[in-house]
Amino acid sequence: MKIGFIGLGTMGMPMAQCLASGELNISGWDTNSQCRSSFDHCAQSIEQLSEDTDVFITMLPEAKHVLAVVDQLLEHCAHSGCLFIDCSTIDVDSTRQLAERLACHGHGFVDAPVSGGREAAEQGTLSFMLGGKSEDIQRARPLLEIMGSKLVEFGQSGSGQAAKACHNMICGITALGVCESFALADALGLDMERFFELCKGAAAQSWILENRCPVPGPAPDSPASNDYAPGFAARLMAKDLGLAQQAATSTGQKTPFGEAAAARFQEFADKGDGELDFSAIYQTIRG
Ligand code: NAD
Repeated sequence: MKIGFIGLGTMGMPMAQCLASGELNISGWDTNSQCRSSFDHCAQSIEQLSEDTDVFITMLPEAKHVLAVVDQLLEHCAHSGCLFIDCSTIDVDSTRQLAERLACHGHGFVDAPVSGGREAAEQGTLSFMLGGKSEDIQRARPLLEIMGSKLVEFGQSGSGQAAKACHNMICGITALGVCESFALADALGLDMERFFELCKGAAAQSWILENRCPVPGPAPDSPASNDYAPGFAARLMAKDLGLAQQAATSTGQKTPFGEAAAARFQEFADKGDGELDFSAIYQTIRG
């Protein structure tokens, strides 16, 4: 079995490395030459990557990138019966259209967005939210189990992305709550390390708080302690919260906190800080 992995960025690189260390036949591709040179198993072109490949895995920023790459792959992929696994975070409607389009070409499709960040990608402990036909999910499982420790099936195509939109709305709202509370704690003159240690083991604990503490210092490995290098870029947080708002509009469910968080992160990204980790929004809150 040959695997083609497209998108070797913050997340895709460690995920592809996990698969490569499992001694699978894997070939990678990214439009960014720096990413290509950091991965030992890169193809010379996307055409070359498509040759004799059975499973394509995409880990790309947005739906437009996924759709463009799938177009290229369909152009160059000679045989039918391939499996496409999209681990990017994109919208539910584009995902369903993609699944139908691939089915017309005789290919299987699984939407498999992830949670856990770069650390989990490096350790092979990502959580996957899965949508698709059960035979396609069964085919994808052995590969996903190398990259992740938790696989949750939600049903038809697009339902993995639906779960991801709701999941990331929790993360975005929580991030703002953590930032605002740390800003107040700082304004009140509290020691940031002690406050962090308190929250870590108390009712305020969350993954966001522990792994993306927004002030430099208390968590040495956090983006905040490393010039806010992502991590999870603020532009991607803005995008994901926008996807949750798209889903809220399509269902008629009101999500005012999610709406406010989406606007706040979008504003932050539009002002030019989108490449920083999302926890950098703290600086605009503390002032
Ligand atoms: P990233 O921007 O670091 O990486 C994306 C990579 O895709 C880049 O290297 C880029 O050069 C490449 N790319 C873009 N267009 C391409 C094309 N047409 N062909 C080939 N390569 C192309 O993004 P990331 O942080 O790795 O996130 C990827 C996806 O995973 C996003 O949808 C994001 O929302 C989601 N996600 C990210 C995290 C995180 O913590 N970073 C966590 C969960 C989910």
